[in-house]
Amino acid sequence: MANWRELEKKYYMPTFNRVPVTLVRGEGCRVWDDNGRRYLDFVAGVAVTSLGHCHPVVAEAIARQASTLIHVSNLFYTIPQLQLAELLVENSCLDRVFFCNSGAEANEGAVKLARRYGQLHRHGAYEVISAFQSFHGRTLGMVAATGQAKMQQPYQPLPGGFVNVAYNSLAAIREATTEKTCAVLLEPVQGEGGVNVPADDYLKEVRQWCDRQGILLILDEIQTGIGRLGTLFAYEQYGVEPDIMTLAKGLGCGVPIGMVMCKEGASAFAAGEHGSTFGGNPLACAAGYATVKYILDNDICGHVRRVGRYLEDRLLELKGRHACVSQIRGRGLLLAVEFDREMAGQVLTACLEKGLLVNPFKPNALRLMPALTVSAAEIDEAVGILDGALSAVAV
Ligand code: PLP
Repeated sequence: MANWRELEKKYYMPTFNRVPVTLVRGEGCRVWDDNGRRYLDFVAGVAVTSLGHCHPVVAEAIARQASTLIHVSNLFYTIPQLQLAELLVENSCLDRVFFCNSGAEANEGAVKLARRYGQLHRHGAYEVISAFQSFHGRTLGMVAATGQAKMQQPYQPLPGGFVNVAYNSLAAIREATTEKTCAVLLEPVQGEGGVNVPADDYLKEVRQWCDRQGILLILDEIQTGIGRLGTLFAYEQYGVEPDIMTLAKGLGCGVPIGMVMCKEGASAFAAGEHGSTFGGNPLACAAGYATVKYILDNDICGHVRRVGRYLEDRLLELKGRHACVSQIRGRGLLLAVEFDREMAGQVLTACLEKGLLVNPFKPNALRLMPALTVSAAEIDEAVGILDGALSAVAV
């Protein structure tokens, strides 16, 4: 058998700190490595495989579409794209869609749309206010929007037109707003930056501020959307409606797809002003349609609310038993376990030995984001393994 780790070391750019496991197969919340070892997966491709690995409904839709029509470009009308557009518009507060291939690309599209809106309706305003500890993607523009110095520093100078301010502070947004501002870009709950849940009224206050100033509110729901927090979109839980919303990750259950959605009033693109070769192709949209339709038809959001609360309760019990756990935070099935020291890497190693995948997204914190279909029994199994790992590591 090939030594996959050596091949990676030799051929791949060293951009990733990979977990020392080569995964070859997945089913539901389980994956298997190249030695036949089975793992319970509480990473789900970083909040992507929303219905679990290789869900039969999604796999069947992909297989059917793959043998019917994969790609013809946006020079033509194609049916899966329009079916998915209708499904998402009819189940959200937004009116129009644009499909692309990833989260960063969706956010780039959203910022371009906001700039175009600024040109047309706000005397050429172009600046976008975003938050510290945010994460919006890896393109140069989205690195500028991502308020994290460690991601920005290697790529200076960054494109202009972005202002980073404190998260969860309306005062910071008010202070940064000028006649040049066209939009505020926020994650409803910050994902990569820490699973940071804002105060209940933060987004409402930001919405009111944007309305008063005539600027757009862009919600990046790439991690929080498609049921992850227990409603199809996170904005529903905060009593606000964005002007523009971006989606990716869980939308295609593992097939790359991204999306910009907007209200009619923010629909500022004209023909030729934005585009994508692959965006909205029949294969990706068939996967997206099967995923979202299944989530809606089977009240997967209700299930996420129930099992999310159960997972949070079980983690709070862990916190009670292990002094090294300093905080449990998050919503739905996006939860973080924070430690009082930098032990997340060791906890991952101990979990791996017992067959559990978790994401040490900070030196002192783990992120848990299993498939939306995870069962209470799988949660019990994961928490049991984590319990043992904490006992082994924090001695
Ligand atoms: N926005 C948010 C909130 C994300 O969590 C991510 C990815 O983690 C992105 C944007 C970037 O998405 P992608 O990696 O698909 O470009």
